[in-house]
Amino acid sequence: MDTLENHQFKLIARPKGMVKRSDFEFASAPAGEPDAGELLVKVQYLSLDPAMRGWMNEGKSYIAPVGLGDVMRSRGVGQVMASNDPSVAQGDHVVGMTGVQEYAVMKARDATKVDPRVAPLPRFLGALGVPGLTAYFGLMDIGRPKPGETVVVSAAAGAVGAVVCQIARAQGCRVVGIAGGAAKCEYLNSELGCDAAIDYKSETVLAALTRQCPKGIDIYFDNVGGEILDAALALLARKARVIICGAISQYNNLSAIQGPANYLSLLNNHARMEGFVVYDYAAQYADGMQALAGWVTAGKLKAREDILQGLETFPDTLQKLFRGENFGKLVLKVAD
Ligand code: NAP
Repeated sequence: MDTLENHQFKLIARPKGMVKRSDFEFASAPAGEPDAGELLVKVQYLSLDPAMRGWMNEGKSYIAPVGLGDVMRSRGVGQVMASNDPSVAQGDHVVGMTGVQEYAVMKARDATKVDPRVAPLPRFLGALGVPGLTAYFGLMDIGRPKPGETVVVSAAAGAVGAVVCQIARAQGCRVVGIAGGAAKCEYLNSELGCDAAIDYKSETVLAALTRQCPKGIDIYFDNVGGEILDAALALLARKARVIICGAISQYNNLSAIQGPANYLSLLNNHARMEGFVVYDYAAQYADGMQALAGWVTAGKLKAREDILQGLETFPDTLQKLFRGENFGKLVLKVAD
């Protein structure tokens, strides 16, 4: 395997604002050999996530930053080419932190086996992967939806948001999705079963939410932060739950992050705002996967991936997330 050439992206500069190609080195190294307890995995699909932007920053977070000179961190799915662990066989498919590269040597205990007969491989990076689990635990454990409640979701046509919308519908909630553009709003209404969709690029979100949530917002699942969070805060119902999942509108901010001006609504409405990281729920992933798979089988959970081609496009493809150019879970195909 030492003869296999492994192309990879290494982080060589901390980005200022949007990531650029010059923040990375496109390097090549031998693929390497798995030691005892390790696997050599051929990466087939990489998950491109908003969180990658935060992983490139210096400073304290829920996970250590990617070191300068290190292969960029990424989740991926691929096929095992060689195994030095009895729990995984050559030919199995696994999901894990492969990094942005063609081949990954990883510990078998850090890899999760997946079955491509159950779902196409990219889905294990989306609705049946970390984004699906994020939606499930954030909504069910922190939001605790009850039938008849009004749930508002931002970045609602994205990987996490689309699953939140559908789980909330399955709980008997009234669901209002917020997304950028007419095509995504049409998808929310006609495919995901949302009761209403708001195009934040063509409507004033506060006015639209006021119209669509006459009894106020019981749960706001926030993926974007900024002005949309503030608009939702202004309309909370009594005992509302605001779930801080992410704040993509702020990730490339070069100045101070925009905080919520309307936070006193939490006091006035006896409401709660709580952030979470999906990794907190690692011990319960199997339960989450079972629930998600159940909804898929019952036809209550649709999924969509936006698959682009070619490892070498990684920096440019990642930018699409921050411009809203992905429609569904953004995945980079690396190999067949
Ligand atoms: P995604 O929604 O599939 O893609 C990102 C979407 O964000 C874009 O398609 C775009 O959709 C929207 N967006 C980008 N810039 C925006 C802006 N300035 N204002 C409003 N919307 C903007 O991504 P995802 O993987 O599902 O992640 C969604 C959020 O969940 C992110 O904030 C991410 O960090 C967070 N997350 C958190 C956890 C956790 O453990 N807490 C785990 C996974 C993900 P539009 O076209 O609709 O604008």
